[in-house]
Amino acid sequence: MEDSYRHKGMRKQLVKEIAAKGIRDERILKAMLKLPRHFFFDEIFVTHAYEDKAFPIGEGQTISQPYTVAFQTELLEIQSGDKILEIGTGSGYQASILLELGAEVHTIEYNRVLHDRTRQFLPQLGYRPHFYHGDGSKGLPQQAPYDGIIVTAGAPSLPEDLVRQLKVGGKLVIPVGNNKSQVMYKLTKVAPNKISKKTFKNFSFVPLRGEKGWK
Ligand code: SAM
Repeated sequence: MEDSYRHKGMRKQLVKEIAAKGIRDERILKAMLKLPRHFFFDEIFVTHAYEDKAFPIGEGQTISQPYTVAFQTELLEIQSGDKILEIGTGSGYQASILLELGAEVHTIEYNRVLHDRTRQFLPQLGYRPHFYHGDGSKGLPQQAPYDGIIVTAGAPSLPEDLVRQLKVGGKLVIPVGNNKSQVMYKLTKVAPNKISKKTFKNFSFVPLRGEKGWK
């Protein structure tokens, strides 16, 4: 697949749209301008790659809406070298944005087909996060603690394990709610046993599966 001038033009337009919706972090906008989102798409949806919408990626899952990717990433306040856990690798688009920001990325996916596909595809674009297959609803304790954890599927409640796996100063960004709509939470571990919590607007994610997710 090629990345033509037409694709670059559409990408520029999309980034403008996202900035107009309130994303301020120039590093995120720059990363989105660079990343050919159409490479992450199924052939049948590829013409829609630069719409600010979520699209199917197979296995009943989606690549998140670009604005949502930018919004969650902004809440993480990533500094270069931060160790970030992403729960829900999906297409690998979000992981690539995190890598563009200079993070060390650990990404876990529940679905074996998506895990295998993205693990093979992403390094071809030059993006090499650490890939894991398994249930991320319990986090990834063997690599903890993290500077940030981003959950890209909707959780029924706040998983305690994830809070435990944060460093002091670390942030957890997670949508929590029912199967139709979730509120975005940002939790910051301000001291070993102290959490500050902020809530943002509603989003609509596919469900977080697994032991601490939806059964
Ligand atoms: N971040 C992805 C991207 O950039 O394409 C979008 C992910 S999609 C909205 C949510 C993903 O979370 C799906 O691929 C789904 O299989 C995965 N998922 C759901 N429950 C999970 C769990 N318990 N552990 C890990 N991944 C999970």
